[in-house]
Amino acid sequence: MTSHIMPTYGRLPVTFSYGKGAWLWDENNKRYLDAVSGIAVCNLGHAHRAVAKAISKQSKTLLHTSNLYHIAAQEQLATELTAKSGMDNVFFSNSGAEANEAAIKLARYYGHQRGIKKPEIIVMEKSFHGRTLATLSATGNPKVQKGFEPLVSGFIRVPFNNIAALEQAIHAHKNCVAVLVEPIQGEGGVNIPAADYLNKIRALCDQHQLLMMLDEIQTGIGRTGKFLAFQHNEILPDVCTLAKALGNGVPIGACLARGEAAQLFSAGMHGSTFGGNPLACSAALAVLKTLDEKDLVNRAHLKGQQIAHAFTQALKDNPQVIDIRQKGLMIGIELAFPCAVLVTAALAQGLLINVTNEKVIRLLPPLIIKNQQIDFLVHTLSILIQEHSQPM
Ligand SMILES: *Cc1c(COP(=O)(O)O)cnc(C)c1O
Repeated sequence: MTSHIMPTYGRLPVTFSYGKGAWLWDENNKRYLDAVSGIAVCNLGHAHRAVAKAISKQSKTLLHTSNLYHIAAQEQLATELTAKSGMDNVFFSNSGAEANEAAIKLARYYGHQRGIKKPEIIVMEKSFHGRTLATLSATGNPKVQKGFEPLVSGFIRVPFNNIAALEQAIHAHKNCVAVLVEPIQGEGGVNIPAADYLNKIRALCDQHQLLMMLDEIQTGIGRTGKFLAFQHNEILPDVCTLAKALGNGVPIGACLARGEAAQLFSAGMHGSTFGGNPLACSAALAVLKTLDEKDLVNRAHLKGQQIAHAFTQALKDNPQVIDIRQKGLMIGIELAFPCAVLVTAALAQGLLINVTNEKVIRLLPPLIIKNQQIDFLVHTLSILIQEHSQPM
């Protein structure tokens, strides 16, 4: 049958029909362990009861009213997100890219307020910020940009995890108004910077009156073993974007701001028809409640260490395993060879994994993953890695 969907994705040959927790079943009722979580989205696993209950209840009262009116669930979600993050206020969107668009607009407006007519934002090599025009321009991957020029101007690129390069760029570009960075690069290959990297960026931003903007779309909502990854550093950014796991599969994004950045937008300056609608907010409220009730953020910390330790043990004698990087349940296994073939090999074994940046196996299992499932993941994937490692 010919597909009438635009071929923007290279899809794996499988269709899932239902899920429960960390498991998914395909149309032939074959079972798979999901170590990708819909790309860091389903942190509570599939078909989570609390989320199902919340959206079912909300759908019977109100799905949508628009932002022409007050929305109680949106107010409550903003109150909870600011309390958990230390930020001041929130703009709600429907996706990560849109959350970053809001952040980029905030940064530009901040510049204009300070008399800078062509404000510039510093972004990183190997970063990923989305697929809209502004966010693909901010993204540090030529493959994402190719063919879509002219790019949106006003971005300056520096290497990730390099404070000297950042400082140099700040001095060289007087129109600089903000730094936009992921606390850990996800799409770029699970790149974990030096432990004090964010602290040093914070200090530079303070010194030069720049907005420190963190893209926590992948790292947020408990993924790295803190509610937000910047909480490992005990700092506060000026702007922070969320999406992915915030609704556990119900689309919602958020741009959080603090201090001066929280006072920039006024009525009419930004908007979204769906952003923060009652359905999406009720899902997110259920997610936050469940994270707390089940102590899932701490669980991500513990299970992440357990998984990294198990892989380190299983792969310690393999010289083609270059590095095992892990913070909470964000795990990267870098190999010496391109390993996209492992994704289909794992699929055949009933295991869903992801490969990013060609040579990095990226694992983003749900925060509710159980010990037996961890054993299956480590056992199955370690054997596949050994089998595919050519003798040197
Ligand atoms: C996924 C992702 C985005 C884009 O989010 P979408 O919802 O796909 O628009 C932006 N930044 C990071 C770090 C991401 O991981």
